[in-house]
Amino acid sequence: MNVVVASHTSFDCDLPEWLHKCLITKSDNDSSDAGIICRAFEFAYKLHAGQVRKSGEPYICHPVAVAGLLRDLGGNGAMIAAGFLHDIVEDTDITIEQIEQIFNPEVRQLVEGVTKLSKFNFSSKTESQAENIRRMFLAMVQDIRVIVVKLADRLHNMRTLEHLADEKRRRIAQETRDIFAPLAHRLGIGRFKWELEDLAFKYLEPESYRQMQDLVAEKRGDRETRLAKVTEVLKARLEQAGIEYSDISGRPKHLYGIYQKMQRQQKEFREIYDLAAIRIVVQTNEECYRALAIVHDEFKPIPGRFKDYIGLPKPNHYQSLHTAVVGFTGRPVELQIRTIEMHHIAEYGIAAHWKYKEKGSNYNQMAPGEEKFTWLRQLVEGQNDLKDAQEYLESVKDNLFADDVYVFTPKGDVIALNPGATTIDFAYRIHTEVGNRCCGARINERMVTLDTKLKNGDIVEIITHKNSHPSLDWLNFARTSAAKNRIRQWYKRSHRDENIARGRDMLEKEMGKTGFESLLKSEPMTQIAQKCNYHSVEDLLAAVGYGEVTLNLVLNRWREVFKAQQSVNNTEIITLPTTSTRVPLPPKRISESPIAGVEGLLYHLAGCCSPIPGEAIIGVVTLRNRGISIHRQGCQNVESVEGDRLVPVSWNPVDSNKGRPQTYPIDVQIEAIDRVGVLKDILSRLSDYSINVRNANVKTANGQPAIIDLGLDLRDRLQLEQVFVQIKKMSDILNIRRVGQVEE
Ligand code: MN
Repeated sequence: MNVVVASHTSFDCDLPEWLHKCLITKSDNDSSDAGIICRAFEFAYKLHAGQVRKSGEPYICHPVAVAGLLRDLGGNGAMIAAGFLHDIVEDTDITIEQIEQIFNPEVRQLVEGVTKLSKFNFSSKTESQAENIRRMFLAMVQDIRVIVVKLADRLHNMRTLEHLADEKRRRIAQETRDIFAPLAHRLGIGRFKWELEDLAFKYLEPESYRQMQDLVAEKRGDRETRLAKVTEVLKARLEQAGIEYSDISGRPKHLYGIYQKMQRQQKEFREIYDLAAIRIVVQTNEECYRALAIVHDEFKPIPGRFKDYIGLPKPNHYQSLHTAVVGFTGRPVELQIRTIEMHHIAEYGIAAHWKYKEKGSNYNQMAPGEEKFTWLRQLVEGQNDLKDAQEYLESVKDNLFADDVYVFTPKGDVIALNPGATTIDFAYRIHTEVGNRCCGARINERMVTLDTKLKNGDIVEIITHKNSHPSLDWLNFARTSAAKNRIRQWYKRSHRDENIARGRDMLEKEMGKTGFESLLKSEPMTQIAQKCNYHSVEDLLAAVGYGEVTLNLVLNRWREVFKAQQSVNNTEIITLPTTSTRVPLPPKRISESPIAGVEGLLYHLAGCCSPIPGEAIIGVVTLRNRGISIHRQGCQNVESVEGDRLVPVSWNPVDSNKGRPQTYPIDVQIEAIDRVGVLKDILSRLSDYSINVRNANVKTANGQPAIIDLGLDLRDRLQLEQVFVQIKKMSDILNIRRVGQVEE
């Protein structure tokens, strides 16, 4: 092997400078870090000889790059050696015992850990999922550096991903986004996380990635000029105050971060990227706060944006002061203020300890007392008690991926979704067509409604039907913008006629049938459409129909047009230019108050106890000029109110000759035996009594009664009592109660 070293100029790959130096200066049989590193390289070089990567490069380039990444992170000799050797056991006849003989137990442990890890296929069958992850965490707990070696391996593979076939590229990129980038995040290794995310972005959404790249390049000059001005001022002020800064600069934002923010906050590129960001690195904690004082003295701080992660570090140990101020051009500038050590922790996470703590500290094994990564320990503690794979998966995923929801397809592929995502988000994530044809879903083999929120570890199966299509109310519970956009798109495209008809119906209901058709064709109607930013009345109707514009907005515009016409004609009745039909008046407000005692006063029914006619009520003068709030007597919220704010009120008798009686919203909760169809039975019973159900929500849990929340519109107490009697009669019903803060 020494022969190889002596003739190092003959290596068929470019060696990085550090390795080159190491090879020249090392002495034989050296057990120092440098010695181990050199021997590991030579060993790997020999064994990988003749192997070629997909890129055409000699295989050795890959372990060399991985070792380099680990060196940059501050890894010791054993870690860097593991970087060289990580593919040896897998690809050659060398055994793990031989590695221990040639090197030492530490190197063996790392190489063994990484070799085991590479056998995991994180998108494999469901049954093996729990086992895979369990083994991964076991490996991590034995030596967390194993994961760091694996992350370096993955990072270099991602950097060279372009050489693989398209299919494989996507799979690896998805796995990187789902598993490895979150892992890097949890270990606090920011620089790995950002690069992994950007590379996954590049291969998973190439179109958007290129777009972001172009946008960033286009705006760079402009942004840098603005930043330079602010940094110049701050530099002068810091120097004046005698604060020694080691760095003050605009900080680059990574592409996927910008993209995610745009998606999450539904904002334009300009709004996100123009948020110039500056980082100030100083020497001590105290200087961080002093620098902050200077920043806030020089520029106006934006309220609500200051965060003290020094006093309250993030779970992955990230520390910094965050604030945002108004810059010179009136645009916001974000600032991070931190010490050098904090900066290293932000970049290197757990590895920062290796890089910057004194030499000889024990990196091996996690010392249970001092190790701060408690989340990891929690994952492994008690894992033997959790025999149920599903249960284990749930606990693991809740811990590791707290930021996202991770669920599985029936085939065991991992899908990451935003917190709060529902089955419909899942369906659209699988494929647009799966979303569009979705008609039901099973979670963990139970039928669920489409608005069911997903939990970590759920196995989700989407049921499709060729005649199914999206429904507008999906927009109420879709969480991801991707799903929302696709639902809207589908509606816009394929349902214009239906939307127009729906919009027409909705408007007709509000405005009355008389003269409606001619109103639609009238000049004022065109004006209304234009006021709502639509070219034609048809466009407006379509927009009303699929919910892009609210009925209220149209009615408000209509009143404006109506009033304008009125002042011109100075008459109650407008004669339309084309017809002589009378324009229906805007819908009337409730003509007569149903409540006695509040004449001429603004009042509203309290949401906490939802009073209905037939019940004893009491008025409360609200503190913020919102008039009188009507509560049920006995409502807990009234108990603490001083006597001088109480107003005696009562229900006026209902005049049954006056058309449709008014109804009041009431929430009830039903406990029922969890059986398919129980909700349907309840709803059909209510509809027999012509009771409108505003909303219905069912919660089920294994072996527990189903909890059904219903929002009903009821006339009065009598009708409410009827509902109770009817529901209680049903066989599967355990209990029904009214929701509200009243002791009954
Ligand atoms: Mn590798």
